[in-house]
Amino acid sequence: MKVLNGRGASDGIVMGRLKIIRHNSSERAEIGKSTDLETEMSRLDGALMQTGAEFDKLYENALSKVGEGEAAIFEIHKMMLEDEDFVGEVRRLVSEEHMSADMASVRAGSQLAEKFREMDSEYMRARAADIIAVSERLAECIRGESHSTRLDSPVIIAADDLTPAETIEFDREMVLGFVTESGSDMSHTAILSRMMGIPAVISVGRLDEEYDGCEVMLDGTNGVLYIEPTYEIAKIYRESLRRKHEEAQRLELMRGLRCVNRYGERVYVSANAGELGDVDLAVENDAEGVGLFRSEFIFMRRNSPPTEEEQYKIYLEAARKLRGDECVVRTLDVGADKRISYLTGNIREANPAMGIRAVRLCLRMPELLMTQFRALYRAAAKENVSAMIPMISLPSEVERVREIAREAKESLIREGMDAGEMKIGIMIETPSAAILSDMLAPMVDFFSIGTNDLIQYTLAADRENPDVEYLTDPLPESVRRCIRMACTAARREGIPVCICGELGARTEETEFLVESGVTKLSVAPTHILRVREKVYESLRTFQRN
Ligand code: PEP
Ligand code: MG
Repeated sequence: MKVLNGRGASDGIVMGRLKIIRHNSSERAEIGKSTDLETEMSRLDGALMQTGAEFDKLYENALSKVGEGEAAIFEIHKMMLEDEDFVGEVRRLVSEEHMSADMASVRAGSQLAEKFREMDSEYMRARAADIIAVSERLAECIRGESHSTRLDSPVIIAADDLTPAETIEFDREMVLGFVTESGSDMSHTAILSRMMGIPAVISVGRLDEEYDGCEVMLDGTNGVLYIEPTYEIAKIYRESLRRKHEEAQRLELMRGLRCVNRYGERVYVSANAGELGDVDLAVENDAEGVGLFRSEFIFMRRNSPPTEEEQYKIYLEAARKLRGDECVVRTLDVGADKRISYLTGNIREANPAMGIRAVRLCLRMPELLMTQFRALYRAAAKENVSAMIPMISLPSEVERVREIAREAKESLIREGMDAGEMKIGIMIETPSAAILSDMLAPMVDFFSIGTNDLIQYTLAADRENPDVEYLTDPLPESVRRCIRMACTAARREGIPVCICGELGARTEETEFLVESGVTKLSVAPTHILRVREKVYESLRTFQRN
């Protein structure tokens, strides 16, 4: 048996035969000079049209398999294909350097990808893989090659890396799992495999050709690939699969259950969402609304902020999907590890996590917040939409945000547009906000405790740094006190408290949270039923919906 350690990118355990797929597009590219410029240009033009049409088809295919949010990657691929930086460079290489069209495509793609790899944000770095995927697909098209790999029996696919197109083109019935030698878990391939529920392990390092066809076991939860697993290992895994199956059946009983605490208040288990596809997943998992819609994702993968109209449509659609349950939209939270070059490109900071991020950025660029509030008030006129402000430290910030919200609403009314009643809450994710929660509670409609940041700032322990994780796990008393403080202040003022950080899904803390007075736990959609079971056990009082 050989054990290869990588990173788990999509949960689940599967056993099956390994099929290795190798990419060597750049090797196949027709190296050398093209002789006939006109022929090369017409091969390129034809392939550009054909590849564009293929991306349209892939979009439709993905729409039915993973929903609109993730299907959007193929719209972006099509945009990349039309991007002048890329296509212009391909044409230049063909006409000025007399390169063959497929070689020019591969070369231009790798040059542009290199620029992305140098960017600060992990998200933008991960986009380098998308550019390579687009340029290689175009090159294959120029050569007249077929892209798809036919599978006759179910296998675990292994590759150096997979493009989103390849991931979606595989026949779902024939793919048990994915393994890649490289790749990032922010890559769309990782995201797509999660959305399709296919277990995946990435970054296992070089895979020997001799593993092709071997019996393997893939553990997407812990990021391990076992080549020819021993009988004992296989038995342990079979047992864990059996337990998982039993748990899934038990959790089904939690559907439709609604919990009430000892004050007679509902305790909601709702979902965190990054895009519209997540809202579908939330509904599928019986979420009681969305407790955190991370609006920053709408601002990513583009060159300028989304317009009021674009934002309005997205917020409205997200809320509509929830059929009356609340959709809490967090206003833009960029900065620190989430950088968007057209917004944060000019900001130079030694310590970005403590710098211009979230509400601090929005108060420097109030027009951003104004547009977002206008879109939110318009959506709130039609559906149950609330706004939530991240990274509040002081009451003066809440006052300023409320002023902007008021101006946004008044401007809509002046223009004869509908503006709904909308709750405005704040995130408690800095120690200052927790300590001042008695002053902040009367100023807002709800609190939502962002424990990911609250923990990092309380312990001065970077959330991205595994070497300081020992300070934060188990949950330190300092953070427990912050949570209790916020809950006490909220109860005095009669406003609800949500937990929207990852702590909400740590079921060993559910009892502490509901005992402290938390009335909503907002977690990843796939955790909803498990958390509800724990809330139910903790409260021991419930009523059927
Ligand atoms: C948090 O800090 O807990 C939170 C939910 O916000 P984010 O993880 O997006 O910073
Ligand atoms: Mg946060």
